[in-house]
Order: sequence, then structure tokens, then C-alpha cells
Amino acid sequence: MNVNALMDMTYGMYVIGTKNDDKNVGCFVNTVTQITAENPIISVSINKKSFTNETIKKNKKFSVSILSEKTDSKVIGTFGFTSSRDNNKYENVIYRMIDEVPVLSEEICGYAICELIDVVDAETHDIFLARVIDAEKTSNNEPMTYSYYHKVIKGSAPKEAPTYVEEKEEENVMEEKNQYKCKICGYIHDENKSSTKFDELPDDWKCPICGRPKSDFEKI
Ligand code: FE
Repeated sequence: MNVNALMDMTYGMYVIGTKNDDKNVGCFVNTVTQITAENPIISVSINKKSFTNETIKKNKKFSVSILSEKTDSKVIGTFGFTSSRDNNKYENVIYRMIDEVPVLSEEICGYAICELIDVVDAETHDIFLARVIDAEKTSNNEPMTYSYYHKVIKGSAPKEAPTYVEEKEEENVMEEKNQYKCKICGYIHDENKSSTKFDELPDDWKCPICGRPKSDFEKI
């Protein structure tokens, strides 16, 4: 079986937001699908280890922020590569509360507010079925697809994402060497394509995807 065949399935990019007591909780997903047309129901698959998963089961309400090509890649880094269990992800982003759940204001296309109907067990993940109770388009930006994120922003899937495929070292060595890979999110600083050598990047330079320092990069 060649799981790479599944890479040609298309996905959008979303941040799911919910609330645990007084704390806003959220995660990045690429698995939101509209299931029915009238009085719409959507589904979203979220890893069972995710704090957002536990929190949706308690709160029974969540938001879907639809990311656009203009959404800052730090949003994906913050929501895809850190856990809400020990971080306040909303500290570093612009958001507003709608219907008591957090919705991003970071150049998104729009949002939906959803109420949980059912949870379907899917081994490592749960599929949440939810009714859309409110939705608004907030810009005419192009929606960000997973393919755009992968090809243009050069990001990889978080390890807990349903679409995560472990990349083989040799597949990462695209041209010659002089590539430095973020150990957290997989972003590659490629000296063949950048005007700045890795060693010449300032000491306070951070990974454009997940915000980690240079020390979290390794030469590949
Ligand atoms: Fe990174």
C-alpha cells in the first residue's frame, strides 16, 4: 500500500476553538467536512490525546475558524505544534468570543459555531458530528488548502493529525545539503533557496511555523 496516494485528497485548514472553564482551548485540524446541506451538520476528526478533544466533550460547543492564504503561519505553529494542556494558545493571536467560544480574527475566511450532536469512535481519533448554529464569512481571502500549506509555506502535519505520514529522511533531502530542519514542526530552512545562510540568521530568529529558536533546528 502506498499511503502517499492519500496525499492527493484535498483538505482545508481550520482552527477549532472551545472553552474549558475559564481557559480558551483550541487546535489546528484539516479534517472539517460539511455532511448535510439543510440545517447543516459538519464532522471534524480530532486525536484522542488532544486537550481540545476532551474539552469539546465537556463543553459540547466549538468554533471552526476557516484559515486563508493570508493567515499568518504562526497561527498554524501555535495551534498545530503546541498543546492547550500547558499553553494558552490564544495569548499570541487576535481573536474574539462569539457565543462563548473563541474565533480567530487573523485574516480568516469566516467561521462557524457548532453544537455537538454525537461522537464516533475512530480508533486513534474521535469524529465529532455537530450542528452549525451560526456562521459568517469575514473576508474574501482564498481559503488555505493543505496542499498550499505544504507547497508554499512548506509546513508538515503535526504528529497527532489524521493525515500525518512519517517522512523518510531521504525524501527530505530535496537538492543538495545545506538544509536545516525544525525538529518540532518539520519546517526546512533551505540555503539553496534563501538569501541567508542558517548560521547568519540572527540569534533571536525563530521558526516561521512554530516559533521555536534556532537551537531546535538540525542539519539534514
Ligand atoms: Fe518549527
